[in-house]
Amino acid sequence: MESNSIKDNLFCCGCRACEQICPKHAIYISNDNEGFLKANIDTSQCINCGLCRQICPAELKKNSFPVTSKIFAAVHKQDAVVRRSSSGGMFSAFADYVLKRRGSVYGCRLNEDLKPVQYRIEDKDELDVLRRSKYIQSDTQHTYSQVKQDLLAGIAVLYVGTPCQIAGLRNFLMEPYENLYCIDLICHGVPSAQLFKQAIEWWSAKLKGPVDKYEFRLKPGYYYNYYYFFLECSKNKKKIQKPYFYDPYYEAFYNFKSYNEMCYKCPYACLERVGDITVGDYSWAIEHHSDLCKANAGKSHAISCVLVNSEAGERLFNTVSDSLDLYKTKLDWVTERNKNLLRPTHRPQERDNFYNDINKIGYKKWARKYFHSEAFLKNIPVVSYVFRIKNKLKRIKNTLKKKGNRL
Ligand SMILES: Cc1cc2nc3c(=O)[nH]c(=O)nc-3n(C[C@H](O)[C@H](O)[C@H](O)COP(=O)(O)OP(=O)(O)OC[C@H]3O[C@@H](n4cnc5c(N)ncnc54)[C@H](O)[C@@H]3O)c2cc1C
Ligand code: SF4
Ligand code: SF4
Ligand code: SF4
Repeated sequence: MESNSIKDNLFCCGCRACEQICPKHAIYISNDNEGFLKANIDTSQCINCGLCRQICPAELKKNSFPVTSKIFAAVHKQDAVVRRSSSGGMFSAFADYVLKRRGSVYGCRLNEDLKPVQYRIEDKDELDVLRRSKYIQSDTQHTYSQVKQDLLAGIAVLYVGTPCQIAGLRNFLMEPYENLYCIDLICHGVPSAQLFKQAIEWWSAKLKGPVDKYEFRLKPGYYYNYYYFFLECSKNKKKIQKPYFYDPYYEAFYNFKSYNEMCYKCPYACLERVGDITVGDYSWAIEHHSDLCKANAGKSHAISCVLVNSEAGERLFNTVSDSLDLYKTKLDWVTERNKNLLRPTHRPQERDNFYNDINKIGYKKWARKYFHSEAFLKNIPVVSYVFRIKNKLKRIKNTLKKKGNRL
Protein backbone atom coordinates (compact mmCIF):
# COMPACT_ATOMS: atom_id res chain seq x y z
CA MET A 1 0.00 0.00 0.00
CA GLU A 2 1.45 3.31 -1.07
CA SER A 3 0.94 6.02 1.51
CA ASN A 4 1.41 9.74 1.37
CA SER A 5 1.34 12.30 4.12
CA ILE A 6 -1.82 14.37 3.81
CA LYS A 7 0.10 17.59 3.82
CA ASP A 8 3.21 18.57 5.63
CA ASN A 9 2.82 15.83 8.21
CA LEU A 10 4.68 17.86 10.84
CA PHE A 11 1.80 20.30 10.93
CA CYS A 12 -0.95 17.86 11.62
CA CYS A 13 -2.62 17.96 15.04
CA GLY A 14 -4.12 14.48 14.63
CA CYS A 15 -7.70 15.68 15.00
CA ARG A 16 -9.06 12.94 12.68
CA ALA A 17 -11.46 15.29 10.85
CA CYS A 18 -10.05 14.15 7.48
CA GLU A 19 -10.27 10.48 8.44
CA GLN A 20 -13.89 10.92 9.47
CA ILE A 21 -14.93 12.78 6.33
CA CYS A 22 -13.10 10.89 3.57
CA PRO A 23 -15.74 9.23 1.37
CA LYS A 24 -13.31 6.46 0.36
CA HIS A 25 -11.91 5.73 3.84
CA ALA A 26 -8.51 6.39 2.32
CA ILE A 27 -7.09 8.18 5.36
CA TYR A 28 -5.61 6.40 8.30
CA ILE A 29 -4.14 7.85 11.48
CA SER A 30 -0.95 6.46 12.92
CA ASN A 31 1.70 7.42 15.45
CA ASP A 32 4.71 9.22 14.02
CA ASN A 33 8.19 8.42 15.37
CA GLU A 34 7.56 10.75 18.33
CA GLY A 35 4.22 9.14 19.12
CA PHE A 36 1.98 11.94 17.84
CA LEU A 37 -1.18 11.07 15.94
CA LYS A 38 -0.73 11.96 12.27
CA ALA A 39 -2.84 11.51 9.13
CA ASN A 40 -1.70 9.50 6.11
CA ILE A 41 -3.38 8.83 2.77
CA ASP A 42 -3.61 5.46 1.10
CA THR A 43 -3.22 6.84 -2.41
CA SER A 44 -4.58 3.67 -4.00
CA GLN A 45 -8.01 4.51 -2.52
CA CYS A 46 -7.97 8.30 -2.95
CA ILE A 47 -10.16 9.85 -5.67
CA ASN A 48 -8.71 13.37 -5.21
CA CYS A 49 -11.99 14.94 -4.14
CA GLY A 50 -10.10 17.48 -2.00
CA LEU A 51 -12.46 17.25 1.01
CA CYS A 52 -9.69 16.40 3.46
CA ARG A 53 -7.68 19.51 2.65
CA GLN A 54 -10.79 21.69 2.67
CA ILE A 55 -11.63 20.79 6.26
CA CYS A 56 -8.13 20.44 7.74
CA PRO A 57 -7.84 22.78 10.78
CA ALA A 58 -4.09 23.04 10.28
CA GLU A 59 -4.98 25.24 7.31
CA LEU A 60 -7.28 27.66 9.16
CA LYS A 61 -7.83 31.02 7.55
CA LYS A 62 -6.95 33.71 10.06
CA ASN A 63 -9.62 36.18 11.19
CA SER A 64 -12.45 33.78 10.51
CA PHE A 65 -13.50 33.89 14.17
CA PRO A 66 -14.53 36.82 16.36
CA VAL A 67 -12.51 38.65 19.04
CA THR A 68 -14.61 39.05 22.16
CA SER A 69 -14.85 41.87 24.64
CA LYS A 70 -16.88 39.79 27.14
CA ILE A 71 -14.23 38.58 29.52
CA PHE A 72 -14.72 37.38 33.08
CA ALA A 73 -12.83 36.11 36.08
CA ALA A 74 -15.00 33.34 37.50
CA VAL A 75 -15.14 30.61 40.12
CA HIS A 76 -17.76 27.91 40.63
CA LYS A 77 -19.73 28.56 43.81
CA GLN A 78 -19.49 24.93 44.94
CA ASP A 79 -16.26 24.33 46.74
CA ALA A 80 -16.39 20.58 46.03
CA VAL A 81 -16.47 21.27 42.27
CA VAL A 82 -13.51 23.67 42.40
CA ARG A 83 -11.45 21.10 44.31
CA ARG A 84 -11.96 18.51 41.56
CA SER A 85 -11.25 20.96 38.70
CA SER A 86 -8.02 22.34 37.23
CA SER A 87 -9.02 26.00 37.44
CA GLY A 88 -12.25 27.53 38.69
CA GLY A 89 -14.61 24.71 37.65
CA MET A 90 -16.14 26.38 34.58
CA PHE A 91 -16.33 23.14 32.61
CA SER A 92 -18.52 21.54 35.31
CA ALA A 93 -20.95 24.46 35.30
CA PHE A 94 -21.48 24.24 31.53
CA ALA A 95 -21.58 20.42 31.51
CA ASP A 96 -24.15 20.34 34.35
CA TYR A 97 -26.49 22.55 32.39
CA VAL A 98 -26.25 20.51 29.16
CA LEU A 99 -26.63 17.19 30.99
CA LYS A 100 -29.72 18.49 32.82
CA ARG A 101 -31.23 19.21 29.39
CA ARG A 102 -30.58 15.56 28.48
CA GLY A 103 -27.75 16.57 26.22
CA SER A 104 -24.39 14.87 25.69
CA VAL A 105 -21.00 16.15 26.87
CA TYR A 106 -17.67 15.33 25.24
CA GLY A 107 -14.32 15.88 26.91
CA CYS A 108 -11.02 14.16 27.61
CA ARG A 109 -10.64 11.22 29.98
CA LEU A 110 -7.81 8.85 30.74
CA ASN A 111 -9.22 5.41 29.93
CA GLU A 112 -8.46 2.14 31.76
CA ASP A 113 -4.97 2.05 30.18
CA LEU A 114 -4.42 5.73 31.07
CA LYS A 115 -4.68 6.64 27.39
CA PRO A 116 -6.16 10.13 26.80
CA VAL A 117 -9.31 9.95 24.66
CA GLN A 118 -12.22 12.23 23.86
CA TYR A 119 -15.23 10.58 25.45
CA ARG A 120 -19.01 11.04 25.40
CA ILE A 121 -21.12 11.11 28.56
CA GLU A 122 -24.81 11.71 29.15
CA ASP A 123 -24.92 10.99 32.86
CA LYS A 124 -23.80 13.38 35.60
CA ASP A 125 -22.26 10.48 37.55
CA GLU A 126 -19.57 10.22 34.87
CA LEU A 127 -18.71 13.91 34.85
CA ASP A 128 -15.69 13.62 37.13
CA VAL A 129 -13.69 11.51 34.65
CA LEU A 130 -13.78 14.40 32.19
CA ARG A 131 -12.77 17.02 34.74
CA ARG A 132 -9.22 18.30 35.06
CA SER A 133 -6.48 18.93 32.50
CA LYS A 134 -4.63 16.02 30.97
CA TYR A 135 -1.45 17.46 29.49
CA ILE A 136 -1.25 14.98 26.61
CA GLN A 137 -2.47 14.82 23.00
CA SER A 138 -5.92 13.26 23.31
CA ASP A 139 -7.39 11.00 20.66
CA THR A 140 -10.72 12.26 19.29
CA GLN A 141 -11.51 8.68 18.17
CA HIS A 142 -14.90 8.72 16.39
CA THR A 143 -16.35 11.53 18.47
CA TYR A 144 -16.85 13.95 15.54
CA SER A 145 -19.15 11.43 13.86
CA GLN A 146 -20.90 10.77 17.19
CA VAL A 147 -21.48 14.52 17.64
CA LYS A 148 -23.06 14.70 14.20
CA GLN A 149 -25.38 11.82 15.05
CA ASP A 150 -26.39 13.52 18.31
CA LEU A 151 -27.06 16.83 16.61
CA LEU A 152 -29.11 15.22 13.83
CA ALA A 153 -31.14 13.46 16.54
CA GLY A 154 -31.88 16.85 18.12
CA ILE A 155 -29.66 16.29 21.18
CA ALA A 156 -27.78 19.29 22.62
CA VAL A 157 -24.02 18.77 22.57
CA LEU A 158 -21.21 20.31 24.60
CA TYR A 159 -17.74 19.56 23.19
CA VAL A 160 -14.64 20.62 25.13
CA GLY A 161 -11.18 20.38 23.65
CA THR A 162 -8.04 22.09 22.48
CA PRO A 163 -8.72 24.82 19.88
CA CYS A 164 -7.39 22.64 17.03
CA GLN A 165 -9.82 19.88 18.04
CA ILE A 166 -12.71 22.34 18.12
CA ALA A 167 -11.71 23.71 14.71
CA GLY A 168 -11.51 20.14 13.38
CA LEU A 169 -15.01 19.44 14.70
CA ARG A 170 -16.52 22.61 13.24
CA ASN A 171 -14.87 21.99 9.86
CA PHE A 172 -16.01 18.36 9.86
CA LEU A 173 -19.62 19.40 10.57
CA MET A 174 -19.39 22.01 7.79
CA GLU A 175 -22.51 23.87 8.95
CA PRO A 176 -23.59 25.53 12.20
CA TYR A 177 -25.97 23.74 14.57
CA GLU A 178 -28.03 25.65 17.10
CA ASN A 179 -27.70 22.88 19.68
CA LEU A 180 -23.92 22.71 19.57
CA TYR A 181 -21.80 24.43 22.23
CA CYS A 182 -18.02 24.33 21.80
CA ILE A 183 -15.57 25.24 24.53
CA ASP A 184 -11.93 25.67 23.64
CA LEU A 185 -9.10 25.78 26.17
CA ILE A 186 -6.33 28.32 26.16
CA CYS A 187 -3.64 25.91 25.08
CA HIS A 188 0.13 26.04 25.06
CA GLY A 189 0.74 22.61 23.55
CA VAL A 190 0.59 18.83 23.95
CA PRO A 191 3.20 16.08 24.35
CA SER A 192 2.51 12.72 22.67
CA ALA A 193 0.41 10.00 24.29
CA GLN A 194 3.24 7.56 23.57
CA LEU A 195 5.60 9.60 25.73
CA PHE A 196 3.03 9.62 28.53
CA LYS A 197 2.67 5.83 28.20
CA GLN A 198 6.44 5.48 28.62
CA ALA A 199 6.26 7.72 31.69
CA ILE A 200 3.56 5.53 33.23
CA GLU A 201 5.59 2.37 32.52
CA TRP A 202 8.61 3.97 34.13
CA TRP A 203 6.65 4.90 37.26
CA SER A 204 5.10 1.41 37.34
CA ALA A 205 8.58 -0.14 37.34
CA LYS A 206 9.63 2.18 40.17
CA LEU A 207 6.54 1.36 42.22
CA LYS A 208 6.81 -2.37 41.42
CA GLY A 209 3.20 -2.50 40.27
CA PRO A 210 0.99 -1.00 37.57
CA VAL A 211 0.16 2.67 38.01
CA ASP A 212 -3.57 2.94 37.46
CA LYS A 213 -4.18 6.59 38.30
CA TYR A 214 -2.36 9.76 37.29
CA GLU A 215 -3.61 13.29 37.84
CA PHE A 216 -2.02 16.58 36.84
CA ARG A 217 -2.45 19.73 38.89
CA LEU A 218 -3.68 18.69 42.26
CA LYS A 219 -4.60 21.29 44.79
CA PRO A 220 -2.97 19.67 47.81
CA GLY A 221 -4.20 21.10 51.06
CA TYR A 222 -6.31 23.43 48.92
CA TYR A 223 -3.57 25.97 48.68
CA TYR A 224 -2.33 27.52 45.48
CA ASN A 225 -0.04 24.86 44.20
CA TYR A 226 -1.12 23.91 40.75
CA TYR A 227 1.96 22.13 39.59
CA TYR A 228 1.72 18.96 41.57
CA PHE A 229 0.97 15.54 40.20
CA PHE A 230 -0.58 12.56 41.89
CA LEU A 231 -0.24 8.93 40.94
CA GLU A 232 -1.30 5.66 42.45
CA CYS A 233 -0.67 1.96 42.13
CA SER A 234 -3.73 0.46 43.80
CA LYS A 235 -2.34 -3.12 43.66
CA ASN A 236 0.32 -2.38 46.26
CA LYS A 237 -1.37 0.72 47.70
CA LYS A 238 1.48 3.08 46.77
CA LYS A 239 0.84 6.75 46.10
CA ILE A 240 3.07 9.62 45.03
CA GLN A 241 2.21 13.30 45.26
CA LYS A 242 5.00 15.69 44.35
CA PRO A 243 5.80 18.92 42.49
CA TYR A 244 6.00 18.64 38.70
CA PHE A 245 9.81 18.51 38.49
CA TYR A 246 9.87 15.07 40.19
CA ASP A 247 8.24 13.66 37.07
CA PRO A 248 10.51 14.06 33.99
CA TYR A 249 7.41 13.90 31.75
CA TYR A 250 5.68 16.75 33.60
CA GLU A 251 8.88 18.81 33.80
CA ALA A 252 9.35 18.55 30.02
CA PHE A 253 5.74 19.60 29.49
CA TYR A 254 6.02 22.47 31.95
CA ASN A 255 9.14 23.76 30.20
CA PHE A 256 7.69 23.46 26.65
CA LYS A 257 10.20 20.81 25.47
CA SER A 258 7.90 18.02 24.34
CA TYR A 259 5.07 19.50 22.23
CA ASN A 260 3.80 18.49 18.83
CA GLU A 261 5.64 20.57 16.20
CA MET A 262 2.36 22.17 15.15
CA CYS A 263 1.95 23.62 18.65
CA TYR A 264 4.96 25.90 18.18
CA LYS A 265 3.25 27.39 15.13
CA CYS A 266 -0.29 27.02 16.39
CA PRO A 267 -2.75 29.05 14.28
CA TYR A 268 -5.16 29.14 17.27
CA ALA A 269 -2.84 30.91 19.69
CA CYS A 270 -4.57 34.21 19.07
CA LEU A 271 -7.49 36.34 20.15
CA GLU A 272 -9.81 35.09 17.39
CA ARG A 273 -11.34 32.17 19.22
CA VAL A 274 -12.79 29.07 17.63
CA GLY A 275 -14.87 28.10 20.69
CA ASP A 276 -18.22 29.65 21.65
CA ILE A 277 -16.57 30.03 25.02
CA THR A 278 -12.86 29.96 25.87
CA VAL A 279 -11.67 28.94 29.34
CA GLY A 280 -8.25 29.11 30.93
CA ASP A 281 -6.34 29.74 34.12
CA TYR A 282 -6.43 33.08 35.85
CA SER A 283 -4.92 32.55 39.30
CA TRP A 284 -3.32 36.01 39.16
CA ALA A 285 -6.79 37.60 38.92
CA ILE A 286 -6.43 37.98 42.68
CA GLU A 287 -3.95 40.82 42.04
CA HIS A 288 -6.61 42.77 40.12
CA HIS A 289 -9.86 41.81 41.86
CA SER A 290 -9.34 42.06 45.58
CA ASP A 291 -12.98 40.98 46.07
CA LEU A 292 -12.03 37.53 44.92
CA CYS A 293 -9.94 37.15 48.07
CA LYS A 294 -13.13 37.19 50.09
CA ALA A 295 -14.96 34.69 47.90
CA ASN A 296 -14.12 30.97 47.97
CA ALA A 297 -11.37 31.51 45.39
CA GLY A 298 -9.39 33.34 48.05
CA LYS A 299 -8.48 30.02 49.63
CA SER A 300 -7.14 28.36 46.51
CA HIS A 301 -6.52 31.00 43.89
CA ALA A 302 -8.34 28.54 41.60
CA ILE A 303 -9.76 31.14 39.28
CA SER A 304 -10.77 30.77 35.64
CA CYS A 305 -10.82 33.31 32.87
CA VAL A 306 -13.83 33.00 30.60
CA LEU A 307 -14.10 34.56 27.14
CA VAL A 308 -17.64 34.58 25.74
CA ASN A 309 -17.15 34.58 21.99
CA SER A 310 -20.46 33.95 20.23
CA GLU A 311 -24.24 34.12 20.59
CA ALA A 312 -24.38 30.42 21.47
CA GLY A 313 -21.65 31.06 24.04
CA GLU A 314 -23.60 33.93 25.52
CA ARG A 315 -26.77 31.81 25.77
CA LEU A 316 -24.87 29.08 27.59
CA PHE A 317 -22.96 31.46 29.82
CA ASN A 318 -26.08 33.38 30.90
CA THR A 319 -27.86 30.19 31.91
CA VAL A 320 -25.07 29.10 34.26
CA SER A 321 -23.99 32.46 35.64
CA ASP A 322 -25.99 31.99 38.88
CA SER A 323 -23.74 29.07 39.80
CA LEU A 324 -20.60 31.22 39.52
CA ASP A 325 -18.84 34.01 41.39
CA LEU A 326 -18.28 36.39 38.49
CA TYR A 327 -16.20 39.51 37.94
CA LYS A 328 -15.90 41.41 34.68
CA THR A 329 -12.22 41.68 33.87
CA LYS A 330 -9.80 43.11 31.33
CA LEU A 331 -8.17 41.34 28.42
CA ASP A 332 -4.81 42.95 29.22
CA TRP A 333 -4.91 41.42 32.68
CA VAL A 334 -5.72 37.97 31.31
CA THR A 335 -2.97 38.09 28.67
CA GLU A 336 -0.40 39.27 31.24
CA ARG A 337 0.49 35.61 31.82
CA ASN A 338 -1.68 33.83 29.26
CA LYS A 339 0.58 34.57 26.32
CA ASN A 340 -0.98 31.80 24.23
CA LEU A 341 -3.91 34.15 23.59
CA LEU A 342 -1.43 36.27 21.63
CA ARG A 343 1.12 33.91 20.12
CA PRO A 344 2.23 30.28 20.01
CA THR A 345 4.66 28.86 22.55
CA HIS A 346 8.30 29.59 21.79
CA ARG A 347 10.06 26.43 20.57
CA PRO A 348 13.08 25.83 22.85
CA GLN A 349 16.29 24.44 21.44
CA GLU A 350 15.94 21.36 23.64
CA ARG A 351 13.01 20.31 21.41
CA ASP A 352 15.39 19.51 18.52
CA ASN A 353 16.61 16.22 19.99
CA PHE A 354 14.06 15.67 22.73
CA TYR A 355 12.24 12.66 21.29
CA ASN A 356 15.31 11.43 19.37
CA ASP A 357 17.26 11.15 22.62
CA ILE A 358 14.52 9.17 24.33
CA ASN A 359 14.11 6.89 21.29
CA LYS A 360 17.86 6.34 21.21
CA ILE A 361 18.69 5.65 24.87
CA GLY A 362 15.28 4.61 26.20
CA TYR A 363 13.01 6.40 28.69
CA LYS A 364 14.70 4.90 31.76
CA LYS A 365 18.19 6.17 30.91
CA TRP A 366 16.81 9.50 29.75
CA ALA A 367 14.96 9.92 33.06
CA ARG A 368 18.12 9.04 35.01
CA LYS A 369 19.99 11.67 33.03
CA TYR A 370 17.28 14.21 33.86
CA PHE A 371 17.59 13.61 37.61
CA HIS A 372 21.27 14.54 37.41
CA SER A 373 20.65 17.58 35.27
CA GLU A 374 20.79 21.23 36.25
CA ALA A 375 17.08 21.50 35.30
CA PHE A 376 16.16 19.11 38.12
CA LEU A 377 18.76 20.16 40.70
CA LYS A 378 17.89 23.82 40.39
CA ASN A 379 14.43 23.08 41.73
CA ILE A 380 15.73 21.68 45.02
CA PRO A 381 15.63 24.62 47.48
CA VAL A 382 19.17 24.15 48.95
CA VAL A 383 20.75 23.58 45.53
CA SER A 384 18.83 26.49 44.02
CA TYR A 385 20.22 28.70 46.83
CA VAL A 386 23.77 27.55 46.04
CA PHE A 387 23.17 28.21 42.30
CA ARG A 388 21.95 31.73 43.09
CA ILE A 389 25.01 32.51 45.24
CA LYS A 390 27.30 31.04 42.55
CA ASN A 391 25.67 33.22 39.87
CA LYS A 392 25.91 36.31 42.07
CA LEU A 393 29.64 35.68 42.68
CA LYS A 394 30.14 35.17 38.94
CA ARG A 395 28.42 38.50 38.20
CA ILE A 396 30.57 40.32 40.83
CA LYS A 397 33.72 38.72 39.40
CA ASN A 398 32.76 39.82 35.85
CA THR A 399 32.04 43.40 36.98
CA LEU A 400 35.38 43.59 38.82
CA LYS A 401 37.15 42.18 35.76
CA LYS A 402 35.54 44.82 33.51
CA LYS A 403 36.50 47.57 35.94
CA GLY A 404 40.07 46.21 36.08
CA ASN A 405 40.27 46.23 32.27
CA ARG A 406 39.18 49.86 32.19
CA LEU A 407 41.89 50.98 34.62
C1 LIG B 1 -3.01 20.53 26.97
C2 LIG B 1 -3.60 21.70 27.74
C3 LIG B 1 -2.90 22.91 27.77
C4 LIG B 1 -3.43 24.01 28.47
N1 LIG B 1 -2.74 25.19 28.47
C5 LIG B 1 -3.26 26.25 29.12
C6 LIG B 1 -2.60 27.52 29.10
O1 LIG B 1 -1.54 27.67 28.51
N2 LIG B 1 -3.19 28.57 29.74
C7 LIG B 1 -4.38 28.43 30.37
O2 LIG B 1 -4.87 29.42 30.90
N3 LIG B 1 -5.03 27.26 30.42
C8 LIG B 1 -4.51 26.17 29.80
N4 LIG B 1 -5.19 24.98 29.82
C9 LIG B 1 -6.55 24.95 30.39
C10 LIG B 1 -6.60 24.77 31.89
O3 LIG B 1 -5.60 23.84 32.30
C11 LIG B 1 -7.96 24.22 32.33
O4 LIG B 1 -8.24 23.01 31.64
C12 LIG B 1 -9.09 25.14 32.03
O5 LIG B 1 -8.87 26.36 32.67
C13 LIG B 1 -10.44 24.55 32.44
O6 LIG B 1 -10.49 24.40 33.80
P1 LIG B 1 -11.89 24.18 34.58
O7 LIG B 1 -11.61 24.26 36.03
O8 LIG B 1 -12.93 25.06 34.00
O9 LIG B 1 -12.36 22.74 34.11
P2 LIG B 1 -11.78 21.24 34.35
O10 LIG B 1 -12.82 20.54 35.19
O11 LIG B 1 -10.46 21.29 34.87
O12 LIG B 1 -11.91 20.68 32.94
C14 LIG B 1 -10.93 20.69 31.96
C15 LIG B 1 -11.61 20.40 30.62
O13 LIG B 1 -10.59 20.22 29.63
C16 LIG B 1 -10.78 18.98 28.96
N5 LIG B 1 -9.46 18.43 28.68
C17 LIG B 1 -8.55 18.04 29.59
N6 LIG B 1 -7.43 17.60 29.00
C18 LIG B 1 -7.64 17.69 27.67
C19 LIG B 1 -6.86 17.36 26.53
N7 LIG B 1 -5.64 16.85 26.63
N8 LIG B 1 -7.38 17.58 25.31
C20 LIG B 1 -8.63 18.09 25.17
N9 LIG B 1 -9.42 18.43 26.22
C21 LIG B 1 -8.93 18.23 27.45
C22 LIG B 1 -11.54 18.13 29.94
O14 LIG B 1 -12.29 17.14 29.31
C23 LIG B 1 -12.44 19.15 30.61
O15 LIG B 1 -13.56 19.36 29.84
C24 LIG B 1 -4.67 23.87 29.15
C25 LIG B 1 -5.34 22.65 29.13
C26 LIG B 1 -4.83 21.57 28.44
C27 LIG B 1 -5.58 20.26 28.43
S1 SF4 C 1 -8.84 13.73 -1.46
FE1 SF4 C 1 -10.88 12.89 -0.98
S2 SF4 C 1 -10.68 10.68 -1.34
FE2 SF4 C 1 -8.62 11.50 -1.26
S3 SF4 C 1 -8.02 11.20 0.85
FE3 SF4 C 1 -8.85 13.28 0.71
S4 SF4 C 1 -11.00 13.06 1.25
FE4 SF4 C 1 -10.24 11.00 0.80
S1 SF4 D 1 -7.68 17.13 9.34
FE1 SF4 D 1 -6.67 16.87 11.33
S2 SF4 D 1 -5.80 14.80 11.26
FE2 SF4 D 1 -6.29 15.38 9.15
S3 SF4 D 1 -4.38 16.28 8.36
FE3 SF4 D 1 -5.61 17.96 9.12
S4 SF4 D 1 -4.89 18.24 11.24
FE4 SF4 D 1 -4.19 16.21 10.56
S1 SF4 E 1 -1.09 24.39 20.88
FE1 SF4 E 1 -2.45 24.53 19.10
S2 SF4 E 1 -1.94 22.80 17.81
FE2 SF4 E 1 -1.10 22.36 19.85
S3 SF4 E 1 -2.71 21.20 20.87
FE3 SF4 E 1 -3.00 23.34 21.41
S4 SF4 E 1 -4.47 24.11 19.93
FE4 SF4 E 1 -3.66 22.19 19.11
